[in-house]
Amino acid sequence: MRIGFIGLGRMGAGMAANLVKAGHEVAVYNRSPERAAPLVALRASAAPKLSDACRGDALITMLADDQAVESVAFRDEGVVRHLKTGAIHISMSTISVELSERLAATHAEAGQRFVAAPVFGRPDAAAAAKLFIVAAGAVGAVNACNPLFEALSQKYFVIGERPELANLVKLSGNFLLASLIEALGEAMALVGKAGLDRREYLDFLTSTLFTAPAYKTYGALIAEGRFEPAGFAAPLGHKDIRLTLAAGESLRVPMPLASLLHDRFLALLAQGGEALDWSAIGGLAAKDAGQ
Ligand code: NAP
Repeated sequence: MRIGFIGLGRMGAGMAANLVKAGHEVAVYNRSPERAAPLVALRASAAPKLSDACRGDALITMLADDQAVESVAFRDEGVVRHLKTGAIHISMSTISVELSERLAATHAEAGQRFVAAPVFGRPDAAAAAKLFIVAAGAVGAVNACNPLFEALSQKYFVIGERPELANLVKLSGNFLLASLIEALGEAMALVGKAGLDRREYLDFLTSTLFTAPAYKTYGALIAEGRFEPAGFAAPLGHKDIRLTLAAGESLRVPMPLASLLHDRFLALLAQGGEALDWSAIGGLAAKDAGQ
């Protein structure tokens, strides 16, 4: 397919590379243009202007947050203005339910199509085409995206025709992951302060009742205090909990645990954790315990 790709950060760089390797014709754009060079070396074309990335049949955005997506989508020389009639904007960033609804409505008014397809998996999974994708949008539009999803993921799930529900599922998943990180951090602070070896404790957990990959991935980061370099940066984790709480607010769903996590991220950021991985909230309990 002839596509554009906007956002070559930790996730987007590997994803765009996999689309090129799968034989798609990819025009890449990034706010900081130097990030396009490794993709061009793989035979992507560099879009000098944002609008140059919008000339294909589909456009993928993989940007940090709502503000970044809004800026790219709605500005004068942006996506809505330049995407062809019938072309598909595939938004793969983790954004709010509200912005997803707004994008769907705006693209429909402009005669374009919109698919929300947020992802699960960290940058290593993105680079290895092992993401899990949760997609939603009109059936024809989602079907047209299948070859792209196949090039990016180990599995993709289509959950219906309302794009914003894919974003809600993504936010709910990150809420669960952050809850797991906080719980592991508290448990490890407890056994660690009593003198047990955290790594051995984690081996015990993950070979008995807690065998899911998330326990292994985040447990290792917490046991080793390995929060740099960030795979998923703490400010983005904070953003996801804020967006989860906003979705809960608008649906009238109290989420007391999410409120607690919101404060944990604030504490981490207040203590200088901007550049750390989001799993660093799992190190706060040990700090609180004077370890
Ligand atoms: P990242 O490394 O921080 O990259 C962010 C990208 O957004 C960069 O290309 C950046 O451009 C661009 N950007 C930021 N603000 C912008 C603005 N105002 N205007 C235009 N471009 C802007 O983030 P990431 O880890 O790749 O995450 C991307 C998305 O995937 C996020 O929504 C995140 O929540 C989600 N996600 C991340 C992970 C993970 O493990 N990392 C996993 C699943 C989902 P510059 O290069 O110019 O800064």
